[in-house]
Amino acid sequence: MTTDGRLRAVLLFGGPGSGKGTQGAVLGGLPNVCHLAMGDIFRALDKQSGIGQEFLSYSTKGLLVPDELTVRVWQQHVQDRVASGDIRPDYHTLILDGIPRTTDQVELMAPHIDVRKILHLVIHDESVLVERLKGRALKGNRPDDANENVICERLRVYEESTAPVLHAYDASLVADINADQAPLAVLSDIAAALSKVLPATI
Ligand code: ADP
Repeated sequence: MTTDGRLRAVLLFGGPGSGKGTQGAVLGGLPNVCHLAMGDIFRALDKQSGIGQEFLSYSTKGLLVPDELTVRVWQQHVQDRVASGDIRPDYHTLILDGIPRTTDQVELMAPHIDVRKILHLVIHDESVLVERLKGRALKGNRPDDANENVICERLRVYEESTAPVLHAYDASLVADINADQAPLAVLSDIAAALSKVLPATI
């Protein structure tokens, strides 16, 4: 935790197929890191509860959940885990995946997090991405990933909605990571960027 009570955080950014999920899972295994993916937090809600129902009413249409509700759910999740001792603010750095996703969420999250770094996984070769997503569709039973038009549309929406979020932060915080590489090489570049911001605790 920082002296003003905000939690130390690193943002993990990347479009569909950029390898964000793979890298997030690995980073989450580090002892002083807590990986929080907003989609996972939403999916863990009780489906019968009011908030669970509200989440489904948006996500099943492919829509984003409203900003205030999203940040409230995130805050409650973190508060509960801090209270249970699972997250220790003086020890853990949060790796946030999928939040903030809009510029309004950037504002709403600002009182709660001290963003130390933004890891921006960049795919330069779009054909690599399309092939990766098609491959994932075959393995993971995600038919939405198999259609090239749908893939291109998702990439367009990502570029449109994510760029303003990146620009809402100081450019010096953003580390562009070449995500065209093999997973271990991507991890190595992430480690180099993170070693400067993660406290050197064991
Ligand atoms: P996807 O990358 O397919 O959107 P996620 O697991 O990141 O999958 O999110 C699943 C759903 O959860 C989204 O479609 C959206 O409805 C909701 N969601 C996740 N993160 C956010 C966020 N930061 N703001 C609003 N809604 C979100």
